Amino acid sequence: MNWRRYSKAQINQNIEEALEQNVNFYDDLAMGVPASHLDGEEFASNSQILEGSTYLKTLVANPNHIGVHTDESESENFFSGTQKLEAEVIKVIGEDILRADAESVDGYVSSGGTEGNIQALWTYRNYFRKRYDLGKDYSSIAVICSTDSHYSFDKGADLLNLHIFKVEVDQNTRKIKQQSLEKQIDNCKAQGVDKIILICNMMTTMFGSVDDLDDYWNKLSAENFEVKVHVDGAYGGFLYPFTVTDQKLNFKDDRITSFSLDAHKMLQAPYGTGLFLIRKGNLHHTLTDTAQYVSGMDCTLIGSRSGANAIAVYKILFNYGPFDWKEKVDRLAYRTKMLATHLTNLKVKFIHFEGSNIITIHKNYITPEISGKYGLVPDNHHDPSWYKIVVMDHVRGDKIRKFLEDLYHHHEVEFQPLVFP
Ligand SMILES: *Cc1c(COP(=O)(O)O)cnc(C)c1O
Repeated sequence: MNWRRYSKAQINQNIEEALEQNVNFYDDLAMGVPASHLDGEEFASNSQILEGSTYLKTLVANPNHIGVHTDESESENFFSGTQKLEAEVIKVIGEDILRADAESVDGYVSSGGTEGNIQALWTYRNYFRKRYDLGKDYSSIAVICSTDSHYSFDKGADLLNLHIFKVEVDQNTRKIKQQSLEKQIDNCKAQGVDKIILICNMMTTMFGSVDDLDDYWNKLSAENFEVKVHVDGAYGGFLYPFTVTDQKLNFKDDRITSFSLDAHKMLQAPYGTGLFLIRKGNLHHTLTDTAQYVSGMDCTLIGSRSGANAIAVYKILFNYGPFDWKEKVDRLAYRTKMLATHLTNLKVKFIHFEGSNIITIHKNYITPEISGKYGLVPDNHHDPSWYKIVVMDHVRGDKIRKFLEDLYHHHEVEFQPLVFP
């Protein structure tokens, strides 16, 4: 394992040393890049506030992490210090959380799940284009995902000119319906599609459901399709592998090529921070030949991006280490389970999966007052069928208790605290 807990002093020292290795716009002679520290009038570099935070210090120093830095030979040297810490973050997530072999994955800190998902579609579209000499005709490629998948795949399919076929799910188990898969396979064949970009969800946004790759694979592999698999772990990537430790969506499964994760959800990093990880040997599919002013590979969708985001992830990961992180997310899963037990006692119709911190309650069991008071989010703002509760860090026992008291009251049952063994 590469991941361990460091003391705060050690983390800060590592970041200070990394910043030293970066270009220092105040003192160095660097003149060739359209980059500088943050505006000095607005963000004073000598502010004492900065002394207390290596994150803010990095924000003001303003390193650009353009490109990908998991391949040592290829980095822009102006910011090599903090870029190395980004590579360490990718290594921890790839090897320790997603169980890749040592040195087998590349990746970068993206702007979030949407970018990671589109980056994956872009990579595989171009892979198919080159391998089958498709030119600009993408009509033989389709994205297949479930109807519970995130809408970023619709964005990506639209941008990249790809078919997208959605497989329906069972309303209670949220598992894909085999009949619907068969229908979409027939649709593919009817439209001349024989190359598939398959999306597997590691926790969907609305239900926290996790796809089983075998549910798709058995039928798809019986056909003459070439399939590339991307896992959308935007929601679940920092939670599910810890709460369900034998979960199967990881790099040990060689059918899977890439993952996206969000750091601005469960990891509580600043917005604009996600991760994209992919097996080595795939970055070049999205390398734009004309990105010549960037030394190293800019095969990313985003281009310039703040190194402070990578530092935020670095600080969070190494401040916890794997054991404390597991404790933290187990706590969320535990609170969620308590809530679920109460809902079962109340005979409320709801959906909750083992190890998830999401509970989705059927609309018939919730009043508009309750959903408004507790800020519950509907699956569809025009015609809601479900309302979800997401047990995040701030959703503590006292708040859950208040909610339950209101709910018991609505169901005309006296509130009964649970006694857990
Ligand atoms: C949030 C989310 C996304 C999109 O992530 P952004 O960070 O908003 O771009 C994609 N997939 C899933 C499952 C999500 O929960």
